Amino acid sequence: MLELNDVEAWRSYANDQRSKGYSVGLVPTMGALHEGHVSLFRAAKESSDVVLATIFVNPRQFHDARDLERYPRTPAEDRGVALASGVDCLISPTLSAMWPDYPAPTPTTVTLSVLGEAFEGAGRPGHFDGVASVVAKLFAITGPGRAYFGEKDFQQLAVIRQMVRDLSFDVEIVGCPIVRDLDGLALSSRNVQLSPEGRDVALGFSRALRSVATEARGASVQRDTLRAVLEEAGVDVAYAEVVNPSTLAPSRDDETGGRRALLAGYVEGIRLVDNGPVDVAGR
Ligand code: AMP
Repeated sequence: MLELNDVEAWRSYANDQRSKGYSVGLVPTMGALHEGHVSLFRAAKESSDVVLATIFVNPRQFHDARDLERYPRTPAEDRGVALASGVDCLISPTLSAMWPDYPAPTPTTVTLSVLGEAFEGAGRPGHFDGVASVVAKLFAITGPGRAYFGEKDFQQLAVIRQMVRDLSFDVEIVGCPIVRDLDGLALSSRNVQLSPEGRDVALGFSRALRSVATEARGASVQRDTLRAVLEEAGVDVAYAEVVNPSTLAPSRDDETGGRRALLAGYVEGIRLVDNGPVDVAGR
């Protein structure tokens, strides 16, 4: 596995692979790698010839300085995980290479209206502008044929798909299913910050999702159920919504298309998100 941190070396590696006729798959991450990331590497290995993984804790998508500071960083372990998962090139760019102006704002950024403003965007203003801007840079440097993102961050996936459509990036976005622990907790780099008791509280997320996954009811009843299960578990709920999976607009009770539950809340001061499919009444 090749390891690079210089942006120009990374660009020329990707150019070189493409000129040899290999398809390039990109998996952007913030590191502290776990089985959720590994599932993206495996998906990339299956449908792209060369897998590039990036590890960059992007400060522009953090709203809270303390959250950024506390974000887990495990570079030595990450190297082992990437190597064992078939990553061909692991890229860990420096902050100054990615954002030379930081902490001053970068003059050119990507801004998402509507999709970027609700849910995670409402609780963390500027979050998706930071995500979209860094992903646009990763695309510009790498020129991937495909890029792989987890459904764990469902709104992020929708935002990236929207950006790719609106700005005509020549990249196929591949969404990969959520990987969960045996107890149902969605894997997340932030889970290591939870105490054993906090982890029990956090199980409220998957419990809430299970409670609406197969119960065909109106969207407003499902919303109430989600919130009640989360609150009962002890989660400080940020939102519990049932939405159209493409537009993320709140579902109406009589809507018969697909629905997705989007959840976010705080456990021991740590913000957690989860989501899942929801059964639809009247189909
Ligand atoms: P992160 O390092 O948290 O920014 O995540 C990098 C990528 O891994 C994103 O596309 C996430 O959606 C994805 N990811 C994180 N956790 C999971 C999970 N439990 N299952 C599937 N994908 C995940």
